[in-house]
Amino acid sequence: MITVENLTKTFPSQGGPVTALAGVTLDVRAGTVCGVVGPSGAGKSTLARCVALLERPDSGSIRVDGTDLVGLDGSRLRAARRQIGVVPQGDSLLRQRTAAGNVALPLESAGMPAPQRRSRVAELLDLVGLTDKAGNYPDQLSGGQRQRVAVARALAANPSVLLADEPTSALDPETTGSVLTVLDRARAELGVTVLVVTHDMAVVRRICDDVAVLEHGRVVEHGRVLDLVSDANSRTAATLLPEVD
Ligand code: ATP
Ligand code: MG
Repeated sequence: MITVENLTKTFPSQGGPVTALAGVTLDVRAGTVCGVVGPSGAGKSTLARCVALLERPDSGSIRVDGTDLVGLDGSRLRAARRQIGVVPQGDSLLRQRTAAGNVALPLESAGMPAPQRRSRVAELLDLVGLTDKAGNYPDQLSGGQRQRVAVARALAANPSVLLADEPTSALDPETTGSVLTVLDRARAELGVTVLVVTHDMAVVRRICDDVAVLEHGRVVEHGRVLDLVSDANSRTAATLLPEVD
């Protein structure tokens, strides 16, 4: 369960301060997938980076399974980060490491002994359907396969929360499907709570239980996808409906 309350974040810039988050309040129910959509510059990545503890908000609170993450330092911050798996935007794999080597990285950092590590990596590659690609380097994998390795790596430390920023943005519709299947498996089989930033309404339709629409650093709509598609006044519905097959 992720509970974000009144989150604000302002960045300094040449033309004066830019308010990226102007008081964001959002609940992501445990074991569900919540989509974050909205125009470019709305604050989606900033929100995801704050929840991932990669960016410190100016004010507000972020609770994951009841623990307030804002204001943590040192070893408590590092421990909290381990609870949160992150699939960063774009190509994030190390090119000089194989698929298995990339997935093993967080386990090595956590000091897991090699035999345990090997079996955990095998388990994770199986979860994302890439057992047969364990020895491939990133440039020997398709874009969708690379993203699935990134998801496996994000899940390595057994986080309760998974954040994915535009995990399918560079992919064609077919490849997108394989990445979405893996995110859905993380929720269904591991019970992970997933927050996914996306431009793609097909992603919302296919895997999101809930969706939040962000505009100018505020949540302007938030609810269950099934309720919103049947709500004539919904902004989500206005965008989703033309695409319903
Ligand atoms: P996109 O859909 O284009 O990825 P977004 O919704 O993810 O957009 P953010 O990246 O969160 O938007 O940015 C929100 C606002 O904050 C933008 O106006 C952006 O220029 C500004 N911003 C984000 N990061 C920084 C930064 N490190 N320094 C200065 N301004 C920033
Ligand atoms: Mg972004």
